[in-house]
Amino acid sequence: MDQIKLTPLFTENQIKEKVVELGKQITAKYNNQDLICVCILNGSFMFFSDLIREIDCDLTCDFLGLSSYEGTQSTGEVKITLDLTQSIKGKNILLVEDIVDTGTTIEAIYQLLKTRNPETITTATLLHKPESQVTDQKPDFVGFEVGNEFVVGYGLDYNNQYRTLPYIAQVNNIN
Ligand code: 5GP
Repeated sequence: MDQIKLTPLFTENQIKEKVVELGKQITAKYNNQDLICVCILNGSFMFFSDLIREIDCDLTCDFLGLSSYEGTQSTGEVKITLDLTQSIKGKNILLVEDIVDTGTTIEAIYQLLKTRNPETITTATLLHKPESQVTDQKPDFVGFEVGNEFVVGYGLDYNNQYRTLPYIAQVNNIN
């Protein structure tokens, strides 16, 4: 494993409280309507599994596999590695992301899924880097805002490491 220095940003408890809060906001918005929650793989699997248990409405889950990052730099290219298993025509869709950085990934997914004629698409992200976002559409539900630092833990990786940390930390000594 690479030896890098981690500075904790959000504790396990802060994350738990935030997920409960987001679950309540999403429940209030959908107010007993059907909902398909889409887990954007890989980074959001942990957030997704906690969040869906805090949403009190009739929901189903689906998974969208994407890859756009190598190391800490966006390649700017979004590739689908696993597609949804169901039709989303006429359905309410909640896209669940781990982090919105430049916004390119969520925008690409939004545009792609819009062509499949869902009723609505909303986005939830645990983390948002507002200063880095270059696209117009802000995520609808945001857990925490962070600066431009690279973060790991709670599903987020650095070269496939640190995903299992129960808290979120900033990576200090990488470029
Ligand atoms: P965007 O397209 O918004 O620039 O990037 C979105 C994706 O980049 C996220 O889903 C995540 O996989 C990755 N990403 C962006 N910033 C970070 C970060 O600070 N840490 C980690 N681990 N991944 C990040």
